[in-house]
Amino acid sequence: MAKCKLCLQDKQLIGKSHIIPEFMYQDLFDNKHKIYVFSPYAKLQGQERIKRPSSGEYENGLLCADCDNKLLGSYEDYASKAIYGGELPANECPTCENYENQHGVKFTGCKNISYKKFKIFLLSVLWRSSISSRPLFSEISLGPHEEIIRKMIYEGNPGEASDYPIFFMTFVNDKSMSKDIIAQPQRRRTKDGHSMFVFMIGGMLYCFYVNARNHTLPEYVVTETIKPTNDMNIFHIPPGQGWDIILGFMGLKRNSH
Ligand SMILES: [Zn+2]
Repeated sequence: MAKCKLCLQDKQLIGKSHIIPEFMYQDLFDNKHKIYVFSPYAKLQGQERIKRPSSGEYENGLLCADCDNKLLGSYEDYASKAIYGGELPANECPTCENYENQHGVKFTGCKNISYKKFKIFLLSVLWRSSISSRPLFSEISLGPHEEIIRKMIYEGNPGEASDYPIFFMTFVNDKSMSKDIIAQPQRRRTKDGHSMFVFMIGGMLYCFYVNARNHTLPEYVVTETIKPTNDMNIFHIPPGQGWDIILGFMGLKRNSH
């Protein structure tokens, strides 16, 4: 018996908790939902650096079976079906389409995606990475936000749109990007002082903003993140545009490696 990190109760803890669920490494989106026109991930060239963590990226002694299989499992089930295709009730089945804004920037706009379920799912990946002691997640440490996010997950509370918003990008349209991909989740500070945790998983970048509530967020984060209106946008990194341009846009700099 030991203390489960999510419910904080003394329970039998399970031996294998995945930090990043396996399904997130699949090709993005399923044809069923007709989300994309993305090129298949497998056709990307030079993808030798895009290494998924080995299937050994799990940890024992973190969570009880109720928290892992039932509580987190229910959010994973939704996310897996919503993003990668699966049977969902019509009112929870996202519809996504690609469009271009007045600046020529391409997005995938998703509507009817469950704000509560998808956001809590993503926060659970961030939180699991923070409680993990695996070297892959060494940069992910949420400090005092770890407990706040734990409560949000446990209580099924996705908070407001501005609470830990996530900015989504995809590089699956840009073959040149694959050369610079770093699989290890990164911590970054933007030039306007935001803490950001960046995960690159299966052709997607998930940028989590972790700041005090009163910290003014960039406008693009506020407008594009997943919102209580059950919609979100995914920014397409333009083909041929350098990684540096994108990182510069976000106030980041290239990781030397
Ligand atoms: Zn538990």
